[in-house]
Amino acid sequence: MIRFIFFYLSIFISINGSASDLTINGKLEQGGLAYGWVSKDTKLRLGGIKINISPDGFFIFGISRNSPSNLDLEIITNKKISKRNINIKKRNWIIERIDGLPRNTVSPDKKTLNRIRNEGALISQRRKVSKDSILFESGFILPAEGRVSGVFGSQRVLNGKPRSPHSGLDLAAPIGTNVVATANGIVSLVHDDMILTGKTLMIDHGFGLHSIYIHLNDIFINEGDSVTQGQVIAGIGVTGRTSGPHLHFGITWYGVKLDPQSVLEVLPNRNLVN
Ligand SMILES: [Zn+2]
Repeated sequence: MIRFIFFYLSIFISINGSASDLTINGKLEQGGLAYGWVSKDTKLRLGGIKINISPDGFFIFGISRNSPSNLDLEIITNKKISKRNINIKKRNWIIERIDGLPRNTVSPDKKTLNRIRNEGALISQRRKVSKDSILFESGFILPAEGRVSGVFGSQRVLNGKPRSPHSGLDLAAPIGTNVVATANGIVSLVHDDMILTGKTLMIDHGFGLHSIYIHLNDIFINEGDSVTQGQVIAGIGVTGRTSGPHLHFGITWYGVKLDPQSVLEVLPNRNLVN
């Protein structure tokens, strides 16, 4: 089925290998998601991450925001390692420079800093664990209706100091607006009160893909629950460090932060394709 779905996605760059043993499609750009097929008995590795491969040879991998222009995909066959060089397209990120701001004199106390660190570590740890099966066969959908108020990769430079790039897509909507699961999966994290992200929810979609939903008002599901695409899982809120009600929606591949809009383009909802 999955092969059938992707066969029709002809708009993407295709790299044909020297033999028909490795095909790579998708968005080969910073923050992008790639997918492909490889022949049996082959293993793949990228940047130290072992790539999941389905019984019929389907695989995915993610590309970070700051990826260099060339990546080496390691191909392991009969214990021999060869490399496939992949060209990664650079993107122009929105950079906003604000100078002359008064020095920020308020910094979190030690206890708060510790919590921030531990909560971040918990999220990172959960992202490293993923089902070795494809739960995202239906593709991905936007998890809420709302105005796009922030895009992936944008960065603010305050008084010359670069802040962390924005790691997801922001959708602004009133408190309580439905948030639905972007794809089928298993709930991998529910947290009621994180300092930065407030009420926080994560779903494992398999093969390394996790989605995250933050600043929520309510969460209607529990860790370990199976969810289906489109199922209402939460309500939009204003919890954690945020100035207005919105959903921050992120997708990662083994912790590599991806542009959700890229993932939705590469793996769209099946109904849209058929
Ligand atoms: Zn955000």
